[in-house]
Amino acid sequence: MGIEESIKKFISICDEAEALIGEKDVEYTPTDGVASLLDLFVAPVFEEHAVGHLTLKRLEKTVSVCTLCRLHETRTKTVFGSGVANPKLLVIGEGPGSEEDQSGEAFVGRAGKYLDTWLSAIGLSRTNGVYITNIVKCRPPNNRDPQSDEIEACLPYLKRQIQLLNPQVILLLGKVAANTLLGRNDTLSSMRGAFHRIDGIPTLVTYHPAAVLRDQGHKRAVWEDLKKIAAFLNIALPGRS
Ligand code: URA
Ligand code: SF4
Repeated sequence: MGIEESIKKFISICDEAEALIGEKDVEYTPTDGVASLLDLFVAPVFEEHAVGHLTLKRLEKTVSVCTLCRLHETRTKTVFGSGVANPKLLVIGEGPGSEEDQSGEAFVGRAGKYLDTWLSAIGLSRTNGVYITNIVKCRPPNNRDPQSDEIEACLPYLKRQIQLLNPQVILLLGKVAANTLLGRNDTLSSMRGAFHRIDGIPTLVTYHPAAVLRDQGHKRAVWEDLKKIAAFLNIALPGRS
């Protein structure tokens, strides 16, 4: 390309750029030149969501400084999740509560301690076979449900976590986790009791421990669900064979 042609091209790219940022009332159709320039600007935005290549450590670091949804404004700490690598069981809750927000650890409040008793009933724990995390990594204010745009912003992190952890079975706690990951809009009772799949991984749904603390009538159902997990993982339950 001669110098004159280059200058003309440069001017037309500038015109298009101006049109794009609204300074000229021109209908905008990007040329190859502008499209590739735009790629340069747009790439970093997508980059934040391009987590498909990150290791678990890098993913946790990315989450710790994430500002992709409004929940970052009110959080104290992000809650990435924790447990063993390649767990037998991956437990997924809804989102951090106040104690989790303060400590940065998943399920450490009252519901979390109750969840620990469920796990130990089938011979598992956070240090033995289990990894625990949530749908959203920052606390929704006043423990409200996470909103759909917040879930959408955060979900790529969980998806990558699932891929990296590659658990043998997944347990979804409560309606928000179940509806989000199974792509449903159903009652919890209609989703529990049968195996579903997330990215091919067998998945069960049960009541959220906070819900069972409020209504002990759900205890029997939870126990049935835990027994299904134990059977699937070939865990012998003492005195209950
Ligand atoms: N409830 C959840 O769903 N997750 C937590 O980490 C704590 C309470
Ligand atoms: Fe980012 Fe998820 Fe926290 Fe929103 S909830 S700021 S998407 S880490």
